[in-house]
Amino acid sequence: MTAVPSVSAPAPVPPLAERARSIGGSPVRDILAVTARPEVINFAGGLPAPELFDTEGIAEAFRTVLAQDAARALQYSTTEGEPALRAALADRTTIRGLPTTADDILVTTGSQQALSLLATALLEPGDTVLVESPCYLAALQAFGFAGARVVPVPGDADGVDVEALEALVARERPKLLYTVPTFQNPTGRTLPAARRAAVAEVALRRGLWIVEDDPYGELRFEGERVPWIASYEGAADRVVLLGSFSKVMAPGLRLGWLRAPAGLRRACAVAKQAADLHTPTVNQLAAARYLTDRDLDAHVARVAGVYRERRDAMLAGLADALPPGSTWSRPEGGMFLWARLPEPYDTTALLPEVVRHDVAYVPGAPFYAGEPDRSTLRLCFVTQTPQEIAEGLRRLGEGLKSL
Ligand code: PMP
Repeated sequence: MTAVPSVSAPAPVPPLAERARSIGGSPVRDILAVTARPEVINFAGGLPAPELFDTEGIAEAFRTVLAQDAARALQYSTTEGEPALRAALADRTTIRGLPTTADDILVTTGSQQALSLLATALLEPGDTVLVESPCYLAALQAFGFAGARVVPVPGDADGVDVEALEALVARERPKLLYTVPTFQNPTGRTLPAARRAAVAEVALRRGLWIVEDDPYGELRFEGERVPWIASYEGAADRVVLLGSFSKVMAPGLRLGWLRAPAGLRRACAVAKQAADLHTPTVNQLAAARYLTDRDLDAHVARVAGVYRERRDAMLAGLADALPPGSTWSRPEGGMFLWARLPEPYDTTALLPEVVRHDVAYVPGAPFYAGEPDRSTLRLCFVTQTPQEIAEGLRRLGEGLKSL
């Protein structure tokens, strides 16, 4: 028998990958962890209102699927997704003005997974990605993890500035532009149709992928629907459209999808195979069942009606809560609005004091890929009732005044 030598000083294990080491902790996340206290009125989360989930409808869909075809629902499935769900998603997309077949769709585990699959499929370390300024935070993370150089495109209250985009595309030679054109996270803003056409045209002329992320578009309270960038002339082979059931059905289902040209879609499917083989079969079949048996559009209209009242409650209270000279957006849908306090307010520095008053927002700074505007903040207006929103804003006003 060979004796195993005793080890006095164990050798250290190898280090984390560089990309994991460079993503450190976040002071904002630490502060916001405190907001889990039940007494805090939390405008920081991006949580759909849970009392509006169609729990009974979703439960019924799961019961039906398990009663009728448990062998399929509980089995492994294809990476591309369940045919019934892909067909239903294609129909919904076609009805909304973008002709789509089931084959065009890859089902993903939330649209967040679509972002990381696209990063894997498209980006080499050092490649340039253009993003909106400010930008959805977890998209910045997904591109950062891929080692991309993330460059912000300047914009205004309506979204990206097309001339600035054109100049940046010419100068930076980016692989892709990431945009949330409708009810953007974090600002709530919506890119007008003429600018969408111009963005599609820049992509066409200069050769650029566009990732059009649309988890909020169905939550419109007022105004006219604006066509997807993907539906403009010549955009079909270079725009990837992302969708999600998180905001219209329930985020816990983790159901999203991407619609992409064949070559890119296949590359994303291979990346997905490596990531999770496929999105849970039972969730996909239950969602497909729900779309057949229920009226999702009617449900979304109900949710949007309630969200509209909540948006109005927040708009009504902001003038008293925020210091004179503040400005804020008035989104026509979605879940968020964006406020800017006058200089020299720094919303990151102010957050701990505001949280002491049992209310929370997300400071704007982390949403910027470039130089942050430190006087900005994001408020989610959908999770609380109008009464709670009024109380939360009263506390926010007190918190800000106490400084
Ligand atoms: N994109 C945007 C713009 C979002 O705001 C979110 C959720 N906060 C996601 C993608 C991810 O959503 P999910 O993975 O739940 O579909």
